[in-house]
Amino acid sequence: MNVELVNTGSELMLGRVLNTHQQWLCRRLADLGHVVTRQVAIADAARDIREAVREALSRADLVITTGGLGPTSDDLTRELIAKLLGKKLVENKNVLAHIEKFFAKHNRPRPAKTSVETFVPEGALVFLNQNGTAPGLAMKIEPNHFRADKKSSWLVMLPGPPRELRPMFDDSVVPLLKREFADEIFVCRTLRTSGIGESSVQEKVENDLQPLVKMGLEVGYCARPGAVDVRLTASGAGAEKIVRDGEAVVQKILGANIFGFDDDEIEQVVVQLLMECKKTLALAESCTGGNVAHRLTNVPGASEVFLGGVVSYSNAAKEKFLGVCAESLAAHGAVSEAVAREMAAGAREKFGSDFAMAITGIAGPGGGSPDKPVGTVFIALASSTGVAVKKFLNAWDRATFKEVAATQALEWLRQTLSA
Ligand code: ATP
Ligand code: MG
Repeated sequence: MNVELVNTGSELMLGRVLNTHQQWLCRRLADLGHVVTRQVAIADAARDIREAVREALSRADLVITTGGLGPTSDDLTRELIAKLLGKKLVENKNVLAHIEKFFAKHNRPRPAKTSVETFVPEGALVFLNQNGTAPGLAMKIEPNHFRADKKSSWLVMLPGPPRELRPMFDDSVVPLLKREFADEIFVCRTLRTSGIGESSVQEKVENDLQPLVKMGLEVGYCARPGAVDVRLTASGAGAEKIVRDGEAVVQKILGANIFGFDDDEIEQVVVQLLMECKKTLALAESCTGGNVAHRLTNVPGASEVFLGGVVSYSNAAKEKFLGVCAESLAAHGAVSEAVAREMAAGAREKFGSDFAMAITGIAGPGGGSPDKPVGTVFIALASSTGVAVKKFLNAWDRATFKEVAATQALEWLRQTLSA
């Protein structure tokens, strides 16, 4: 089945709003077995909307538009589509009642402009908006004269605001899809790895996956800061087994580097492992500026295992709060194995934790030297058996550097806890 998305909104083209509908709808649809074949974003301009919808209708079994259903002058979708399909706009009493109730509930008079929202293309299915006023709309176009084969297509129009679109999709569009498009089988499994580069990941697994690829397995690689996802997908009968077999192959080759699956985050896995091992953690972060602590505290229940951390950015803070020696700082510099070691040992002692991790590095763009170039990071892990230090070179931009260094620290701890 061919699915196309048309995201309208001049704010998208101006870079003022991130097109989250694209990702959210693609993900939801893929989970239902319908992989989006094409997506376009366009400005709120009549000609662009008309052309995009007409083109999409000439190919797709399902077209979903987003945005432009509101009452303002830049909201053109409903009217343009009605015109394109030769449908009259007719007043819908349910929508009118719904909008009146909406404003009564918010104790506000109903603006006259909202009247346009009560007019819907003749014959359209109406999805009342539980979080706003503009209804969503769906129409079966039969026959669809925009298609060479004249086969029918569904056109679904959803409002722009994510808090309106998302519940409407789940409550109204999903049942429609289940009714109109018998479930297509699509299986997707993502194996999340850390500690190996993207091309190495591919090199290691591609030969062994080849027989399954011949049977219909699709393999995708997605590089993220400090991590690489291997995505295995297949559709149709047998998809489940092909993906499961692919997963076994990747597991066998990359096993130790796989930290999770699908939506797992490395920090969730670390918190889970700390809980299982009944161990606590403290942090001493310099160059990551609290990023590791931030990520850990995003995980519900982290308070059971994460005791706290120090963002010791200055030398003085490293001495005062972690007990790093002035001599070590003077002799080796703040970014050094010796200082990382003392930071981790200091954090472990001050917080009284089972484990402590320290991270010190040069994020750049300035501050590098021939023996310590920008991107140099020392990560230390203190435990009851002593302190170990690893050195990495993450020559990325500042934001990526922080993400990657934090992921490396979390991955090291994960490996230690899993061992
Ligand atoms: P409204 O009744 O609020 O006018 P609408 O259906 O007319 O709704 P738009 O006017 O196109 O929708 O968009 C409303 C708001 O929704 C935008 O300002 C934007 O913040 C958000 N929005 C629209 N499209 C997207 C998108 N693709 N991704 C994320 N947010 C979006
Ligand atoms: Mg609008």
